[in-house]
Amino acid sequence: MKHRIMVLGAGYAGAYAAGLLARRLHRDEVEITVVNAEPDFVERMRMHQLAAGQELRRHELTELFAGTGIGLLVARVEAVDAERRTVTVTGAAGTDRLEYDTLLYTLGSTAAQHDVPGVAEYAFHVAGRPSALRLRQHLDDLDGNGTVLVVGGNLTAIEAAPELAESRPGLRVTLATTGELGGWLGPSARSHLFRAFDRFGITVHEHTTVERVEQSYAVAADGTVLPADATVWAAGFAVHPVAAASGLTVEENGRIRVDRMMRSVSHPDVYAAGDSAFAIRDNGRPLPMSCASAGFTAMQAVAAIVGDLTGREAPETSLSYVGNHISLGRKDGIFQLVDAAERSKTWALRGRPAARVKAAILNAGPWSMRHPTYGRPTRKHHLADVPRQRNEEVAA
Ligand SMILES: Cc1cc2nc3c(=O)[nH]c(=O)nc-3n(C[C@H](O)[C@H](O)[C@H](O)COP(=O)(O)OP(=O)(O)OC[C@H]3O[C@@H](n4cnc5c(N)ncnc54)[C@H](O)[C@@H]3O)c2cc1C
Repeated sequence: MKHRIMVLGAGYAGAYAAGLLARRLHRDEVEITVVNAEPDFVERMRMHQLAAGQELRRHELTELFAGTGIGLLVARVEAVDAERRTVTVTGAAGTDRLEYDTLLYTLGSTAAQHDVPGVAEYAFHVAGRPSALRLRQHLDDLDGNGTVLVVGGNLTAIEAAPELAESRPGLRVTLATTGELGGWLGPSARSHLFRAFDRFGITVHEHTTVERVEQSYAVAADGTVLPADATVWAAGFAVHPVAAASGLTVEENGRIRVDRMMRSVSHPDVYAAGDSAFAIRDNGRPLPMSCASAGFTAMQAVAAIVGDLTGREAPETSLSYVGNHISLGRKDGIFQLVDAAERSKTWALRGRPAARVKAAILNAGPWSMRHPTYGRPTRKHHLADVPRQRNEEVAA
């Protein structure tokens, strides 16, 4: 019987990890199944572009996985039972319960609502394709006019506001944030950011906490009413509740607690990567939810899975955080690097050169799904008996 590896989620972490696993393990010894809600690899980093009305290239997972032997199941993961090693899914064929021997959990995250009244009912977000398309439709219905309020002062809000303003110049775009807009950026990046927002005509309300969202306005803590034909909630990410209900040990925020190798600390046959994993770097700080973190943690999880299944020592891969690449519409951007203490460097790459760097990074995502070894030759390894015996013992 083949060892069944199941990968939940085919985003930046899952699609990449599945492709890498298929190139490291023998097809006649392992069966790799990827479960994903959508038939495509969705470039989540472009969801503000999609909402703004731009057409994005599709990346069908069957095409990305062609020739690898990876099985794709387009279905929603409803539940994971880490004790019984089962995953409940709902797809075109109805609801099913699937068994696994090794699980890689990479379901990513969605918009954090922070229990603010009205957000669930009235606000839009760009954390996934269905929600971005919903916002796009609503903006189409506004016929190019109206006021859009973006709530948040961090990366997603910073990228969403200029994208909407550039692609839909008839809109009035405002942004409200509890703290400072891009307060962590170095001085040159921050002044560039404000110049860009001025150029786009975006009104910024700093130190403004939105406490309630209604259909056509939002209300701040000091009672200020902010008009909004569409409120775009971009105040951070939260992981899906599936992990917390699975029996796996999770952090307070629901992210799966993993060791240095991305193994669940409670269930060593479960690995997690990407936004769903609470991974600690060598400097003791958690990795931020980001595309780079998804790549690093996926690489580490694959090394650990291959090591654990083949009896080889798994190498530690780098878990670093070097900074942020930020788009300000299609022609402008900021590439802010951080120093060893993770403080923003005084200088940052800005303008068109930064936009070109960002475009290259975005294009590298789907490319790496097709070429997960980055063109380097790789050897496949045979499974050791050890993991199979361990599984049988646990199952007995
Ligand atoms: C608008 C926007 C811009 C961003 N810009 C940047 C940036 O510039 N730089 C950066 O580093 N990061 C950026 N990010 C963050 C980055 O996209 C995430 O950190 C990254 O996608 C995490 O990868 P992941 O594989 O963990 O999750 P995802 O890429 O979200 O993949 C998760 C996958 O799981 C699937 N899934 C989820 N739930 C279920 C379910 N119940 N059943 C089945 N399938 C499910 C999803 O459909 C998806 O395919 C941005 C995010 C957004 C929303």
